[in-house]
Amino acid sequence: MTALNELTLAEARDKLAAREISATELTRAHIDAIEKARALNAYIAETPDHAITMARQSDERIARGEAGPLEGLPLGVKDLYATNGAHTQACSRILEGFKPVYESTVTANLWRDGAVMLGKLNMDEFAMGSSNETSCYGPVASPWLPPGWSQEQARAAGAGDKKGLLVPGGSSGGSAAAVAAHLCLGATASDTGGSIRQPAAFTGTVGIKPTYGRCSRWGMVAFASSLDQAGPIARTVRDCAIMLRSMAGYDPKDATCVDMPTPDYEKALGASLKGRRIGIPKEYRVDGMSEEIDALWRKGIDFMRDAGAEIVDISLPHTKYALPAYYIVAPAEASSNLARYDGVRYGLREQGRDIVEMYEKTRAKGFGPEVRRRVLIGTYVLSAGYYDAYYVRAQKIRTLIRRDFETAFHAGVDAILTPATPSAAFGIGEKTSADPVEMYLNDVFTVTVNMAGLPGLAVPGGLSRDGLPLGLQLIGRPFDEETLFSAAHVIEQSAGRVQLPASWWA
Ligand code: GLN
Repeated sequence: MTALNELTLAEARDKLAAREISATELTRAHIDAIEKARALNAYIAETPDHAITMARQSDERIARGEAGPLEGLPLGVKDLYATNGAHTQACSRILEGFKPVYESTVTANLWRDGAVMLGKLNMDEFAMGSSNETSCYGPVASPWLPPGWSQEQARAAGAGDKKGLLVPGGSSGGSAAAVAAHLCLGATASDTGGSIRQPAAFTGTVGIKPTYGRCSRWGMVAFASSLDQAGPIARTVRDCAIMLRSMAGYDPKDATCVDMPTPDYEKALGASLKGRRIGIPKEYRVDGMSEEIDALWRKGIDFMRDAGAEIVDISLPHTKYALPAYYIVAPAEASSNLARYDGVRYGLREQGRDIVEMYEKTRAKGFGPEVRRRVLIGTYVLSAGYYDAYYVRAQKIRTLIRRDFETAFHAGVDAILTPATPSAAFGIGEKTSADPVEMYLNDVFTVTVNMAGLPGLAVPGGLSRDGLPLGLQLIGRPFDEETLFSAAHVIEQSAGRVQLPASWWA
């Protein structure tokens, strides 16, 4: 029999409903797995007692016939989400000791539907990063074994500084690693420039960033408010569909959250692609793209064609400006959002002779180097004299990027297929000492989607030459997550689910 924590979320749901298993035993199986996997550093706060209490309540509701759609399903929560009375720091020292007295809307929706919280998951500090190496709690190790490594070697590195183990991607690295290593059935994540899709691609999991406005941002620690969006990471397309249905929905507390009904996304699975048009943007064939990424993309195109879709070549001419424009808009918003961490209202405070020195010392100690870099860039591009040259231009480029997509959709394209990342996962420490731009390049295929506010999904498409997961990305029309789920399901069925070869950490 499959271990309880290795069931998919949908399988666990069905077994709970059939009363073959209890929420309490399912939760205990996850708590045990989490304890054995501390070397991954995926959870930075475990809440086992709370989880057992929630699971018992789920069992009671199941017994009374009052089960919600996620009843008794144990999930992990990215440390970005405010969770009432529980550790919430966006993995930053500046929020040291912060425990909110409120719950984010997205997590409240999950608990309303019966889900169980296992704990809080590691992430890049304030979601700034692509490898989960900027967290104040240290890096997360991917459960995937580095090519050529023995399990013993990985165990030794896991017990030490983790150098050479693979990154799980970022910023939602804890979420992706925990899902891939069976330390939860699914996890919440967030995506400002690729932080759901890139870690999903690196770990062989599925992740969707829904349309901007689909999920409430209320109670999510803000990074770049016009780009941030909540979404799930899970092991299958179906599991993501189930989670997103619960996470999404109108919330009057977020003025950018859209008041429209949330579809039953699971129903989109199995829908035919006959006659649907899948766009292939030529600008995503970037310079120096590796042969294996190109081959993965071609394979994805074949899957779509074999399922009856019509493949059309499209052009998104402003793609090359997306990354530079993103690295103006996102830091600008971040510098403004992070102004609230002043040592007065939340978390850390370093004493100073006067209030200015207190601010300075608190912010100097509380923010890590990547966050400081973003605040400096953001303040610079918003300053008088530079605002027009940088910020205003970046916003204009953003409009042009959105128009590129609109043109493709007006021409009848239903979804766009691209690779999710330019490479497979790299090693911890491999890209941190170099130029930060090298890390930023990871998001070359994902940031355009945030700039345009569109839904994007990453699904495993196969393995690299070295046996590591590679992801395909599907981009959809605004609020048409359903087409993405239908097409991703076809890819999942055609490519097969990727399987972790070994659990070196346990
Ligand atoms: N890697 C990108 C950044 O560091 C995106 C992060 C995200 O989506 N939160 O800004």
